Amino acid sequence: MIHNVIIIGSGPAGLTAAIYAARANLKPVLIEGYQSGGQLMITTDVENYPGFPKGVMGPELMGLWRAQAARFGTEIISKDVTHVDFSKSPFEVFVGKDVWQAKTVIIATGAQAKLLNLPNEMRLMGRGVSACATCDGAFFRGEKLALVGGGDTAMEEANFLTRFATEVAVIHRRDTLKASKIMRDRALKNPKIKFVWDSVVEDVLGENQVIGVKIKNLKTGQSSTLDCGGLFVAIGHQPNTQLFKDKLEMKNDYIITKDKSSLTNVPGIFACGDVQDHYYRQAVTAAGSGCMAAIDAERYLESLGH
Ligand code: NDP
Repeated sequence: MIHNVIIIGSGPAGLTAAIYAARANLKPVLIEGYQSGGQLMITTDVENYPGFPKGVMGPELMGLWRAQAARFGTEIISKDVTHVDFSKSPFEVFVGKDVWQAKTVIIATGAQAKLLNLPNEMRLMGRGVSACATCDGAFFRGEKLALVGGGDTAMEEANFLTRFATEVAVIHRRDTLKASKIMRDRALKNPKIKFVWDSVVEDVLGENQVIGVKIKNLKTGQSSTLDCGGLFVAIGHQPNTQLFKDKLEMKNDYIITKDKSSLTNVPGIFACGDVQDHYYRQAVTAAGSGCMAAIDAERYLESLGH
């Protein structure tokens, strides 16, 4: 059977694409992966998703989203895609030996924040450890915070966090910043930001909530403890694009989409959400681009005489 649309990925982008494609009667197949729901599944309170004035837990929001996609007839496959063939039409999407064929494919495999791989980092994720200042900064009003990274994201997030925190300690493994001059200067001038140079975080401390971080100075070899109520990790993101290497045009591992659309360089293949956006990376922007991808796929099918 040749499907109209296969959607790969089940975060806000993929599920929104599914809702729109299903309501357009395209009977989409959504291959959601074994770990469905994307990055919001490891988030606790989401306070900035419109429509939830009291906030909503990340997994609950994704459950509602999935139910909405299923309600309109999306066929959901809870497996991981193993490889794809976009060299001919219909396109082929494989799960091991099983193959799904489709006229269009929407890629919404997302990205993940790079983490430090500290012994207690995952255990305290959402309990003081965060990889998204925009999402979680407001929970840390009046607290002292630590942040790791030396790039543009780190400087932007450190500045943002000073709206809430009394102090932000930026811990960087070198003594010069990678960030652009303007971002660097802004952070260096901010009286609430202090820099801990040539240092790495060895672990994050706390039982149920972060109470501090253990730091090692790489030049002196000395370890110390910094008291803080939260640790923000801002060392970059990795888009989930391994499956599409050498099959689609990419830049820094992100899929390139054409101006203000979800079109990739292969007609009939669309991309949405964080897999093609290193800049905004929000659930609401990912959802918006998922909607765009479904509309782009629908118009493409129309152009084929669907
Ligand atoms: P980057 O890759 O640019 O920077 C990552 C930073 O994290 C570097 O300083 C790096 O250190 C540090 N780092 C990486 N791995 C580790 C580790 N394991 N332990 C400790 N530190 C580590 O990522 P960004 O997310 O900052 O930026 C990504 C892209 O997005 C860039 O092109 C950036 O310019 C852009 N961007 C632009 C913004 C803007 O213009 N407003 C805002 C945000 C991002 P080191 O320096 O030693 O390599």
